[in-house]
Amino acid sequence: EKMGGVGGHEEKILVLVRLRPLSEKEIAVNEVADWECINDTTILYRNTLREGSTFPSAYTFDRVFRGDCSTKQVYEEGAKEIALSVVGGINSSIFAYGQTSSGKTYTMVGITEYAVADIFDYINKHEERAFVLKFSAIEIYNEIIRDLLRTENTSLRLRDDPERGPLVEKLTEETLRDRVHLKELLSFCEAQRQVGETYLNDKSSRSHQIIRLTIESSAREFMDKSNSTTLAASVNFVDLAGSERASQALSAGSRLKEGCHINRSLLTLGTVIRKLSKGRQGHINYRDSKLTRILQPFLGGNSRTAIICTLSPTRSHVEQTRNTLLFACCAK
Ligand code: ADP
Ligand code: MG
Repeated sequence: EKMGGVGGHEEKILVLVRLRPLSEKEIAVNEVADWECINDTTILYRNTLREGSTFPSAYTFDRVFRGDCSTKQVYEEGAKEIALSVVGGINSSIFAYGQTSSGKTYTMVGITEYAVADIFDYINKHEERAFVLKFSAIEIYNEIIRDLLRTENTSLRLRDDPERGPLVEKLTEETLRDRVHLKELLSFCEAQRQVGETYLNDKSSRSHQIIRLTIESSAREFMDKSNSTTLAASVNFVDLAGSERASQALSAGSRLKEGCHINRSLLTLGTVIRKLSKGRQGHINYRDSKLTRILQPFLGGNSRTAIICTLSPTRSHVEQTRNTLLFACCAK
């Protein structure tokens, strides 16, 4: 049941919702929290008086996490099973979708760290196989692909490999030594992501980031025979551009081009996710954006996907919160 398989059963996309708490700054200016998780699966809009009956007030998902839930809890109860399917040779992707400042990066960094800790635990417990864990990091900004492990600002090309599908050419892969090494790489990438930020107001809210862990393993007894028992799979941690970019379809002036491109990746992801959630009937338009092309080899077939939709609880963000929930509903 879990992995799909012989009968051709396709795993549905796991849709999780995480509400963040009010920040100290928001509390200081008397912001009000209008959203509440009333149990493990339902989130409720409380301020129905203000909005009348124009939109539903209760939304149900696979799992919703309240503002006082820790990232550890989100990981354990939501993302862990999907992230760790990689050790069994199954590709997976975990997305963070939500408006800027809703908690995407906060959530994804924590989840990546917990997943790596568990993967190293698994490796240490399975000495009958030899494992290599590789780390790579990509930024997609304005439909340009950048290697976040490199300081030079060159754009990377996508190539269609006849066997493996779309590949990012010349992408740096670092062999991950331990959890400390991961922390170093993540902060290096974060610094790279901020290059150019002063010139482009809110660049990081406009770019997508993919952290990829690839695990390769082979049975030790065959190691010297270049035997074909190697198993390889990847888990992608995708920190998406702020979802407000998807609703600004007609941004004006000098930002038009950029706005359009970001819309393209986010909107294409939206249609791809909707099709996947409906059982992958018909043509899926992976090729319409860089983001979906890069992720194509890890989305189809037997792979597993989770989307964590992050929400701000405040009244002033209600429109964007609603848009995020509508996206989440479409992914179910
Ligand atoms: P995004 O990446 O969506 O723009 P961030 O992850 O940067 O948002 O979060 C915005 C701010 O809110 C950060 O200061 C972050 O530390 C804080 N934050 C986000 N989610 C939580 C949470 N669940 N609990 C506590 N603080 C959070
Ligand atoms: Mg962020």
